Amino acid sequence: MEGTGRSPIRRLLDGVVEPAASVRRPEDRSTARLIASMIIGPAALAVAALAAWALTGPGAVIANVEVVVIGAALPFFAAAFMLCRRGRNRMAVWILVVASSCTVFALQVSALLGYNPLYKPHDAVVLVFLVVPVVLAGTVLSRRETVLIAVAEVAAILLVPIAMPVVTYELLVGGPVLLVTVVSILTVSFSAYRERIEHLRRAELVAEIAERRTAEMELGRHRDELEVLVRERTVGLERAMDELLEANEAKSRFLANMSHELRTPLNSIIGFTGVMRQRLAGPLTEEQSRQLGMVDRSSRHLLGLINQLLDLARIEAGAETFDPETFAVADLLDEVGDVIGPLADVKGLSITVDHGPLGDHGYITSDRGKVRQILLNLTGNAVKFTERGGVTLAATPYGDLVLFTVSDSGIGIPDDEIAHIFDEYRQVIGAEGGKPIGTGLGLTVSRRLAVLLGGDIEVESEVGVGSRFLVTVATKCG
Ligand code: ADP
Repeated sequence: MEGTGRSPIRRLLDGVVEPAASVRRPEDRSTARLIASMIIGPAALAVAALAAWALTGPGAVIANVEVVVIGAALPFFAAAFMLCRRGRNRMAVWILVVASSCTVFALQVSALLGYNPLYKPHDAVVLVFLVVPVVLAGTVLSRRETVLIAVAEVAAILLVPIAMPVVTYELLVGGPVLLVTVVSILTVSFSAYRERIEHLRRAELVAEIAERRTAEMELGRHRDELEVLVRERTVGLERAMDELLEANEAKSRFLANMSHELRTPLNSIIGFTGVMRQRLAGPLTEEQSRQLGMVDRSSRHLLGLINQLLDLARIEAGAETFDPETFAVADLLDEVGDVIGPLADVKGLSITVDHGPLGDHGYITSDRGKVRQILLNLTGNAVKFTERGGVTLAATPYGDLVLFTVSDSGIGIPDDEIAHIFDEYRQVIGAEGGKPIGTGLGLTVSRRLAVLLGGDIEVESEVGVGSRFLVTVATKCG
């Protein structure tokens, strides 16, 4: 409650009327402050009156009987003050109402009985002070209690002429009765207004709480529903996942078996075609030899496709074995160049093998067969998708890896397809709209193999300019 810019007296008064810390509710605290400030004024006046009496002598400004009455009222004021500081506001106000009413009547009666030389005996002016208890009641007590107190005060005033005929009704009705009645009506109206406002605020609060509770319940219900839904979906997804895994395994098993079943007769076809083409089984006409050449090429192509299927099935089934050996990278590059060279020659393409900084002494330990397979695949593709210029095959060290590069000056790959060319069975329709040849599995298998070898494959390409495949492989693997 410490405030800046307030006078020391104001701060002292604020400190005096401040209720105890045990009074927690803000509205109780402010009511307690109001009652305490209402007590301080009259109490100070009473103390001043007693001081004046003590200084000026009996009867000079204050009659002896007034001193007695005020003296008797002071302890009640003190009690009310202590009570409101502890937050017992209703009891404090009731004590104040009763004590101040009794004080006013006592002063009036003592005047009428002639104990107070300062008053005319028939004067009823002291009774107007009965508005004070009514106002006090109106600030804290209920409307009903305020009405009760006001009626009691007026009734008590009206009883005075019966007990003391010296006071007339004309005197009372024009004076104290009128004033007390008017002030009571105003106080009760104000109290009614205050109660109504409080009632409305409480109703608003109750409605808000009810609304919030409904919203919370609704939220809870939604959450529960969501949880059930998520649980159901999770179960469904897990089941679907199991089924997918099973189906994938079944597919891999099927492919592995089928590929094997297909490869055996195909190898026989290729073998016997070779025997016939070498004329070991008897003479052939030119036409028969040409057609057997077509059978041989088609069979080999088919065998290539089946081999890729078999590779992928093996990798997916986790059955791929790893066969490490230490070998010279330059030799491998030369070997791939030699295998692909004839194909490049057929298309009139140059094929360049660049040993790079590895030179002839670059050795790595890896699965040579798999590295060879990747490079054959990429170089074969490079030749397949290039019509002019040539293909370059290079290797260079790259930290713990060796980086192979297969570059071509071919048709290139459109930007929107680059992200998908490693997907299974993915083929791009050529720039000339030509029908793609192959399975769309070569890059998938190559990347999986590269990952198995501790590396990866990336690609850079520009349509109409060419492509560059970058393959990394760990230099020490296995
Ligand atoms: P495929 O066996 O059909 O060639 P790949 O997986 O090897 O399958 O290649 C997928 C697709 O990527 C190819 O159909 C082709 O469109 C594109 N592609 C691969 N290599 C190149 C390249 N060097 N230049 C242009 N396109 C390429």
